[in-house]
Amino acid sequence: MTTGTNPGSSNPEHSNPETGNPGHSGLQVGLTVLAEGPFTRGPDGLLTTILRVPVERIGPGPRSARFDVIVRRAGEKPFSLDLGSATPPWMIVDENPPSDLTALLQDSRFLAQQVYAVAASTLALFESTLGRRMGWVNGGRLTISAYDRVAYRQSGYYRDDGLIRFGHKRDGRTTKSVPLALFRDLVAHEVTHAIVDGYRPKWADSHAETDQLAMHEAMADLVALLSVFSTQTLVEKLLTQAGGDDLDLDTLDEAALRNDLFRLGDGLFKRESARPSLSHDLSPDWRTQRDPHLRGGAIVQVLVRVVSRLWLQRLDAPGGRSSLYQVSRAGASVGGQVLRMLIRSLGYMAPVDVTWEDLLRGILAADTAVAPDDDLDYRGAVVRAFAEAGIVLPNAKDLYGVSTFAGLRYPVRLAALSSDPEEIVRFIWENPRLIAAAKIDPTRPISVARVRPTLRVGPDGFVVSEIGATFTQEFRLSITDARRFGLTTRGPVFIRGGGQLRFDEGGRLIFAALKPILDPVRQQTKLDAQELMTRPADAAVPVAPVAPVAPVASRRAARAPAAPAPEVSARRKPTFHT
Ligand SMILES: [Zn+2]
Repeated sequence: MTTGTNPGSSNPEHSNPETGNPGHSGLQVGLTVLAEGPFTRGPDGLLTTILRVPVERIGPGPRSARFDVIVRRAGEKPFSLDLGSATPPWMIVDENPPSDLTALLQDSRFLAQQVYAVAASTLALFESTLGRRMGWVNGGRLTISAYDRVAYRQSGYYRDDGLIRFGHKRDGRTTKSVPLALFRDLVAHEVTHAIVDGYRPKWADSHAETDQLAMHEAMADLVALLSVFSTQTLVEKLLTQAGGDDLDLDTLDEAALRNDLFRLGDGLFKRESARPSLSHDLSPDWRTQRDPHLRGGAIVQVLVRVVSRLWLQRLDAPGGRSSLYQVSRAGASVGGQVLRMLIRSLGYMAPVDVTWEDLLRGILAADTAVAPDDDLDYRGAVVRAFAEAGIVLPNAKDLYGVSTFAGLRYPVRLAALSSDPEEIVRFIWENPRLIAAAKIDPTRPISVARVRPTLRVGPDGFVVSEIGATFTQEFRLSITDARRFGLTTRGPVFIRGGGQLRFDEGGRLIFAALKPILDPVRQQTKLDAQELMTRPADAAVPVAPVAPVAPVASRRAARAPAAPAPEVSARRKPTFHT
């Protein structure tokens, strides 16, 4: 069963026959993927959906400007996709998956299409929501090894290698090995780690704390869950599964809707993962959980509550419950909206040391910028759900963080401000009030990693144009200097802080999220948290030895030079595992 149009869906929507130049910038194409995974079936067979991905030149692999997808089954050369056309628009020809399970599990071609489509649509979701290109942490392409020889626990994102590896495993439901990359949520989850890592590399470096790693997990889980949930047919299936023939649309309440989301989430996340069931109550000590999956899982629960409440609100509008289609479409649409609210928050959070209050503030500030009216009180629903988890803004009145910065000096050139890090350093330096607020050490250099203009369109068509910049300061203090600074410590201390600044089109500072640097109280709190986390329970997951596999020529051998299979030390462990 497939939603939307399928036959010929890989044809781009228009081209220019006169010039022979398809000019595909901005065009999208539909590719068929499994809506959830290989075991989810609808009334007409496998439950599939069409994902819209940007049209781009695709090489064998498939390889695009941003992704290199490699499918290599044991004993085979890497599979290389046979593309439909040697001329523009070079796009993958859309194919439906085989309906037979065994054939599906062994179909390298469909696996390549599934992985490419989910990865490319996840990246496109971030780029269209944030109004800018998103890079990888080490530049270049992100390699996705879609049928890797790694063990299940070694599947995941390897930041140093710019690589995502997906193993395969036996499953009680079939005798064949099941490629993990056939599960849409797993691919969306790992690609989200890579996107967030490219955008905020210090959230996952060696100095990152559990809150930042948990922020990664929460984002990755929510993108996975809500992008799957934004498939209307899947929501319909969840509702009918729960209600059966007796499904009464008029009595659906928050608990019922939330249960559907919980069931979907649990189905997706519980594949031997460390996450709690979404249907459990929030653990009272969730903030100090050591496992980033558990800690981040609480935020997944919070946002699932937001989705179910806003969904109910839509159903209670006139005609909202008129048909199953209406109800499921409302759920899918709310899921997509909340997902975009979450993604937008990224541009409103500091580049280091983010906390859950920062996430709440980021969601609210970003949403206020693109949807000033908020007629349906989406932001109120977010505030209430976060408050239930104990997350409240210390200064809710100053959402934008600039109320004390009236009269700043702007010794900058607007053109340079949107592209030149030096111009941002100059702006900070010329404003002692900003230096004092961020507690910047004036004797040390300020590092500005990125300055980017962004252009976004709000739900009402209102265009928001801003310039975003991040700065950091980090250094090591000896024990003596750290104690003199006021810290209680038994060793040298790594100090860091920084901020996210946003400027409007006229170059005025309109938003600031600061993590003060020379702030002994904040640095001591971080030290204490690190102390708490230094324990044997945090030890690395044991790594299974990896046996080298000799490539053997196969029926579907590469027709064009395929990328070399990624070589990663067997001792390496993923930055984030599935
Ligand atoms: Zn993860």
